[in-house]
Amino acid sequence: MFNKILIANRGEIAIRVMRACRELDVKSVAVYSEADEKSLYTNYADEKVLLGSASLKDSYLNIDKIINAALETGAEAIHPGYGFLAENPNLNLEAEKHGIKLIGPNADVVKSMGDKITSKQLMKKAGVPIIEGTEEGVSDVDEAVEIAENIGFPVIIKASAGGGGIGMRAVYEKEEMVRAMEATQKDALKYFGDSTVFIEKYLEKPRHIEFQVLADEYGNTIHVADRECSIQRRHQKLIEEAPSPIMTDELRERMGESAVKAAKHIGYSSTGTVEFLYENGEYYFLEMNTRIQVEHPITEIITNVDLIKEQLKIASGNDLTYSQEDIVVRGHAIECRINAEDPLNDFKPNPGKITRYRSPGGPGVRIDSGVYINYTITANYDSMISKLIVGGQNRNEAISRMKRALSEYVISGIPTTLPFHKAIMKNQNFLNGELNTHFVDDNKKGIEDEMYIVIQEDLDRMNRLKSTFLSEKKIAAITAAVGSYMTQSKKQKE
Ligand code: ADP
Repeated sequence: MFNKILIANRGEIAIRVMRACRELDVKSVAVYSEADEKSLYTNYADEKVLLGSASLKDSYLNIDKIINAALETGAEAIHPGYGFLAENPNLNLEAEKHGIKLIGPNADVVKSMGDKITSKQLMKKAGVPIIEGTEEGVSDVDEAVEIAENIGFPVIIKASAGGGGIGMRAVYEKEEMVRAMEATQKDALKYFGDSTVFIEKYLEKPRHIEFQVLADEYGNTIHVADRECSIQRRHQKLIEEAPSPIMTDELRERMGESAVKAAKHIGYSSTGTVEFLYENGEYYFLEMNTRIQVEHPITEIITNVDLIKEQLKIASGNDLTYSQEDIVVRGHAIECRINAEDPLNDFKPNPGKITRYRSPGGPGVRIDSGVYINYTITANYDSMISKLIVGGQNRNEAISRMKRALSEYVISGIPTTLPFHKAIMKNQNFLNGELNTHFVDDNKKGIEDEMYIVIQEDLDRMNRLKSTFLSEKKIAAITAAVGSYMTQSKKQKE
């Protein structure tokens, strides 16, 4: 095992990795920008290195500075987390050049899976079902119309280099094709520097079901069951659960086998996720994420596998700890992403200071977060406050537990997605497990009506809890008193 690693990320995922380090007796190095000086993860780490200003290219996207920080501190490996440089093969290449281990798959694998056309071609070769469509880039609009007519409308135009839900357009009829092609090509060039787009069948009500995979550097590859992530806004996940409410042993075996085939075919090692769209009993490869994912904790809850520790063990050259038979699914887990966003205003990001904070606890509750009371969510980076994760014996218990945990969660000062999650936990379609990627839009009215009710209930509850929180004035007075006591006792010691 490594003695020391550097975490090239921030927030909750940096803490999650550092927690695994602490359990494995590995020293951790945080890197941070000026905006993260007071962040929890920065001070949780054993060592910290300032990268630069808040700007991404001066900090979390600056490969040279990150490599230098690793060299300076003697870190033997770099964990990229998710987002930022996590799927940038140049980080792998630079790390390798300097004799530093990148905790993840090799650069070639990251590169080929980062390109939607290349990954589709590879998956077809591997014998994994793919969505009907072009396996080459399409640039000519007439050709695009012909292809769409052959596949049958609706189709989706996608940027091959796309990611994060950007660079995709569904097209329902021939007349929309010219505009949609031009707009998607423009977005593709603007956001990803590559205007290549391709076309595939647009599935109208698919479920997003993904499989966690684990592979060591000696070809041993297993899947660690499934997650359903159909509750999304702007193609971004909001609620995930494991297993999928529709999963059966037979389907898990089939889809799991495809996921393992996918990973093996490309010589994958580390943790990874093979994402599928599922509709009418059929499933199709969507993409592979060559990193740890935000929603990994729900898999940890239902399988008892610590995915980050496995990731570190694999990178340090160990064999997989588990065989496929060791992976047993027990119970059900749900994750709600608590973001500083206004769910009544199209999920507009709303960073700011958290003035009151009390996270839920009790049986089956896990919080992965990087915030604390009086912490300011910065507008420089994403708006996640925490991930609230619960586990229970079955889906019903997990939902009751999530409802209870949400009711205990107090976050004041900024709007959050808490009311949204409370509304979903009461939604009849959600309770029935009737999910697809359009769930949020299709249930918009019901969710909004319910949100107004829960916001009123929250106000009443906050009033009852008032006495358990100190008033702002009292907090300021106590902070001042403690500060002056500390200065005095320091002076006395000197
Ligand atoms: P990104 O890399 O930007 O995250 P993905 O290819 O993973 O893009 O797709 C993200 C989401 O877009 C999926 O979860 C799904 O909701 C929707 N989507 C993508 N392709 C299709 C398709 N062919 N039919 C229907 N929905 C799709």
